[in-house]
Amino acid sequence: MGNPFLFLIVVFLLWPHAGTGAEEVLRCDLCSKPVGERYWQSESGDRVFCEECVRTRPKCFACGVPVGEDGMKVYGQTLCRECFLSRPRCADCGLPILERYYQVEGLDEKYCDRCYRNHPHCRICGRPFGDEKGSLKGSAEVCPKCRAEAVTDPLEVRRVFTEVRRFIEADLALKTPEGIALELQEDLGATTAAAPLQTYRELGAFVRTGNKPRIVIQEGLPRPLLYETLAHELAHAWQSERAVRNQRLLVKEGFAQWVAGKVLAKYGHEAALRSLRSRSDLYGQGFRLMEGIERRRGTKGVVEYAVKSH
Ligand SMILES: [Zn+2]
Ligand SMILES: [Zn+2]
Ligand SMILES: [Zn+2]
Ligand SMILES: [Zn+2]
Ligand SMILES: [Zn+2]
Repeated sequence: MGNPFLFLIVVFLLWPHAGTGAEEVLRCDLCSKPVGERYWQSESGDRVFCEECVRTRPKCFACGVPVGEDGMKVYGQTLCRECFLSRPRCADCGLPILERYYQVEGLDEKYCDRCYRNHPHCRICGRPFGDEKGSLKGSAEVCPKCRAEAVTDPLEVRRVFTEVRRFIEADLALKTPEGIALELQEDLGATTAAAPLQTYRELGAFVRTGNKPRIVIQEGLPRPLLYETLAHELAHAWQSERAVRNQRLLVKEGFAQWVAGKVLAKYGHEAALRSLRSRSDLYGQGFRLMEGIERRRGTKGVVEYAVKSH
């Protein structure tokens, strides 16, 4: 965006009017002096400004009106009171977002350019948080929201693992490999270089070394993400024995997401299911592909597709 400031001024603000002298005296919204021969009206028509104020006052970065003493400074730019109150807020710093905003895949919140680019991102949910100067450890950090919802008891994690596995085997008829070991990692991104964590934020991995199948997951996952991740990786475990080799990533990940979606629905994690469905990346595309197949050919059709399709 070149210079939004100039653009907005021209379009919204400068409607010069020549007074006839007959009507009651119009006063400038900012300095209260009578506006005289030439004055300016805001687009909505409910604010007028004198020539002097239009020429000399700072202009609102967002809507272009001249700003008085009640103007607010946001990251070096001036906003009028109305824009300060009405613009979308950054979920990190809480200030109005001046121009473009950023979103994290799977989250509804909006973030300003400054927070998104300068703050560390949570290694679990991906949201930027905190501040540059704080005692944060960069990519190794976890945001307060994820920390508050974390399942930290390893026994509970194992219980959920067994629960999810039973559901997948009994209700979806997906027989998973015998004797899968479950490992928790303090920082999955740092320890499994092969995990595509940077691109897709996958919070687990299915690994097979020789004959030993393992599922490695990030420790301290919030409960919905724990169910989602375990289901996703168990689907990969199933694929390792049942599906064709060298499957397209769209099919492979799409099916794993579809299994995760079934588990989220079963255990009442509706919000997590919604965000899984609304993702715009390959994971979301793959998930919607599977849902389309399910509508036409049912659950069985999805599993058949996941077995054979490249
Ligand atoms: Zn004035
Ligand atoms: Zn404004
Ligand atoms: Zn911000
Ligand atoms: Zn987080
Ligand atoms: Zn995956």
